[in-house]
Amino acid sequence: MGMWKKILFKVTQHGRDGELSHIGNKCHKYLALLLKISKWYLRHPDYPFCYRSYYTYIELVITTNCTLKCKHCCHYINRFRNSSEYATPEIINGDIGQLLDGIKWVDVFRILGGEPLLYPDIHKVVSCVLESKKVGMVEIVTNGTISLKKEIVSLFPNDRLNIYVSNYGKLSGKISEYANSPDINVTIESQGSVWRDYGNLIYQDRNDKELMKQYSRCCRERYILFDGMLFNCATSAFGSRLKAFQPVQDEFVDVRCSKNGDELRRKLKRIRARKFFTACNYCHYGTDKFVAVEAAEQ
Ligand code: SF4
Repeated sequence: MGMWKKILFKVTQHGRDGELSHIGNKCHKYLALLLKISKWYLRHPDYPFCYRSYYTYIELVITTNCTLKCKHCCHYINRFRNSSEYATPEIINGDIGQLLDGIKWVDVFRILGGEPLLYPDIHKVVSCVLESKKVGMVEIVTNGTISLKKEIVSLFPNDRLNIYVSNYGKLSGKISEYANSPDINVTIESQGSVWRDYGNLIYQDRNDKELMKQYSRCCRERYILFDGMLFNCATSAFGSRLKAFQPVQDEFVDVRCSKNGDELRRKLKRIRARKFFTACNYCHYGTDKFVAVEAAEQ
């Protein structure tokens, strides 16, 4: 990606409408206007460049099994029953291959759950993602309750692979084990991270204007691949899966049914052009109700 494209991409990914509005001088006002115009341009489905094929994060749900039952889990994992049935690594790797066919680059490909280390063949999936030249970093997101299997440890040393540990204090009993393994790359979250109330998938009866405003305040575009379907965010993915609501066409992509990379890219453009999603009416993100809750409460 050229330098100016990279800068514009980063600005539009991380900038927020209104972030610059408190700044008074003319220069910053022009900057804020430029930011808004570029954000609109990049979100437009027919714009001529290829930015839409670049992603900051894509997350893969590898299992809904978990070792914890967190009350405020934003993936609503406590509503799934633990199961011994897993999609095979061949199926998951097929989904990943199809998806990567339709995009040009993803900064960070995260593998999560549930607790991803419960997935027996996780190393095969990690290896598959690492093989792709379209992926920057691969990150396994764990709650620190399970020891790393030798198959995972053997994937190191690798600068493109990281274990990200959500630190829930006493619950995350294996953290010191990870920290004392010199060969692996580990990021341990600082304890006491703030969790938020996502709304428990309860319908909120907001009108379109309210939903647009809410979506403009949301972090957005945290794509999640779940059982062959790509959604814009975790609430869309897990809420649909739990049948809390039915997403409309253009709110998700059935990766397995996409004929080729071009078709997938066109479908992904339509997701990115949306102004809000069905899921937003079942979610508190971007509203005053998005209040802090106790992290990892069992
Ligand atoms: S449901 Fe809407 S508001 Fe909630 S996280 Fe997803 S995109 Fe954002």
